[in-house]
Amino acid sequence: MNIVIFGPPGAGKGTQSNFIVKKYKLHQLSTGELLRNEIRNKTDLGKKISSLMNSGKLVSDQVVSNLIEKFISDNKYNNRLIFDGYPRNKLQANNLKDLLKKYDQEIDLVLKLSISLDAIKKRITGRSVCSICGKIYNKFFNPAPVNSECCASKFLQKRSDDTLDIAVTRYQTYEKNIAPVIDFYKQTNLLRVVNGERSIVEISKEISDLIEGIKG
Ligand SMILES: [Zn+2]
Repeated sequence: MNIVIFGPPGAGKGTQSNFIVKKYKLHQLSTGELLRNEIRNKTDLGKKISSLMNSGKLVSDQVVSNLIEKFISDNKYNNRLIFDGYPRNKLQANNLKDLLKKYDQEIDLVLKLSISLDAIKKRITGRSVCSICGKIYNKFFNPAPVNSECCASKFLQKRSDDTLDIAVTRYQTYEKNIAPVIDFYKQTNLLRVVNGERSIVEISKEISDLIEGIKG
């Protein structure tokens, strides 16, 4: 089974990807990580990538596609991939389909974690850290205990406001850019939207059910 997972920053995509990887023994293919690996290992491609990045250029679709093909063509990962951060546009989505087909595979499930901008804001603005013990709280979802000596409100530190502005921009940019790809998968009937505004356990449960349904 091959899966693609989408979700804006703050939706818990990393957590759920890890869950799927562990439970179903899949291999996570994060294109960002692939590129960083090439750079770190100083491969010929890695050198090319870092010089591109240093000159402010984007790594071409072809380079990313070649990197991905290395995994798709590898028997070790046959039908065991979860794509994270790819595809980012319709062209890449078509390319991924063709690449998989070349090796007799396909995308079996596309997951989109959904979360509203309002919930993202609450997750960020509600967050505080106890300056004594380091525990993290959220006044909306996980408030600090009342009458606690250590985690009293005078010890709780909030993040600065620009964290919120950055998060809002990242969220809006992500959703806008990814919309055509989501549409692409909706049309092929592979898309399942998962409500990301619940507990981690509840979200994982729904994802498991969807995966089990496909394995059926
Ligand atoms: Zn504390």
